[in-house]
Amino acid sequence: MGKTIIVSNRLPVSLRHKNGKFEFKPSAGGLATGLGSIYKEGENIWIGWPGNDVADAEQRAEIIIELHELKMAPVFLTSRDIEQFYEGFSNETLWPAFHYFTQYINYDESHWEAYVRVNEKFCEAILKKADPDDTIWVHDYQLLLLPQMLRDRLPNATIAFFQHIPFPSYEIMRMLPWRKEILSGMCGADLIGFHTYDDMRHFLSAVGRILGLSNESGYIQSENRLINVDSFPMGIDYNKFAKSAKSKKTKDVVKKFKELLGNQKLLLSIDRLDYSKGIPQRIKAFDDFLSKNPEYHEKVSMIMIVVPSRAGVKSYIELKEEIDTLVGRINSDYSTLNWVPIHYFYRSFPFEELSAFYSMSDIALVTPLRDGMNLVCKEFVASKSENNGVLILSEMAGASKELQDAILVNPNNLAGVSDAIKQALTLEKKEQNARIKSMQDTIQRYDVFQWVKVFMDRLDHVKKRQYDLQ
Ligand code: UDP
Repeated sequence: MGKTIIVSNRLPVSLRHKNGKFEFKPSAGGLATGLGSIYKEGENIWIGWPGNDVADAEQRAEIIIELHELKMAPVFLTSRDIEQFYEGFSNETLWPAFHYFTQYINYDESHWEAYVRVNEKFCEAILKKADPDDTIWVHDYQLLLLPQMLRDRLPNATIAFFQHIPFPSYEIMRMLPWRKEILSGMCGADLIGFHTYDDMRHFLSAVGRILGLSNESGYIQSENRLINVDSFPMGIDYNKFAKSAKSKKTKDVVKKFKELLGNQKLLLSIDRLDYSKGIPQRIKAFDDFLSKNPEYHEKVSMIMIVVPSRAGVKSYIELKEEIDTLVGRINSDYSTLNWVPIHYFYRSFPFEELSAFYSMSDIALVTPLRDGMNLVCKEFVASKSENNGVLILSEMAGASKELQDAILVNPNNLAGVSDAIKQALTLEKKEQNARIKSMQDTIQRYDVFQWVKVFMDRLDHVKKRQYDLQ
């Protein structure tokens, strides 16, 4: 048995250059926590981009040594790589295509070339560390070509791939000039995982129609290898959120926030700034609710957290302006001296405050137009230690497949979302408790640790099946 190598575009660490030295802060994100049980074991390692543009050879050497201590190894990207591979092909071509925003797709050939070049760069970095019988688990849409590149060089390695964003229908996939290369790249893996059954179905259909490879119950027979494709909905670190909600620290923050906000019903909205999250549509639905239900004025407020993201990309700059304008208009239309309908924050919050927002809010309004999974809704449910609270969830979020006890909405139906807000505000306590409890059971059972285990067990199973067929 060889070692296991985790590969993702970004390493689970943030790097800051301060007073001539680098500071390394390991990420506390769900994926990093879930995979911690793997890459911190034995000889295992996590390979990826540390997130900075570091050109200086001495600085690079310092980073390599520091990351080695954390069981990580860097792939250094140049500023050109970052612009063309990361901001370009990954975020301006694959991201909009895979989230069904075809109007934003940039078909730039030079970005594609950069994407191939950087996937090769990752491949070279892995080859420096990998032995022929290692297990390599590649993550996400920035590295779709990597599984096949690795397969060409390490034919006997165990290679897995997981896609954290949606996989679109064949009709979208066929629009990309590089569709064949992308699908062939992914098919270098032994196991390909998606969040939902629909993503998996779309992938299998695209592979069938574009590569001419058929499948039987999720098993594709390629030239010389059996490839398994399936859905593995990713979970959260459930206990971390459930425990924090009950902690004195969080309760103190809740008390402080409640004193400032007064006795309001609170709607919570948390996303990264992204057009896939449906933020303007959500604000318009809240506007519709306020205009139809004046009796709720001064009784309900929305806490809206928008975490800055991809600040250099034009569509994101425009989106930010649209949100600013909408919030400004609604607040100026409805505010009174002691009430503001939307408390709007364009920044991120530390974990304790996030946990307080989750636990004190009556309703979470999670209405993306398209989302691979969406972890915010799961974190909200896990934080409901008293079992009170209502989740309004978009049908277009992967999480909706598991969280059927949410009030499910079509995020494009403004009147429908507005009605759902009213329904959530008037939902009986008993009903709230039953729904929250049932959703908690699901996400507690399938937490991020279970997700890793189920995926790795399946990978073992696939390898055994390949071996038996030889
Ligand atoms: N989050 C955070 N700080 C904040 C707001 C959100 O760390 O101020 C986290 C949140 O806890 C969640 C993640 O950001 O784990 C968002 O994940 P999600 O899957 O909902 O959306 P993504 O941003 O990955 O599209």
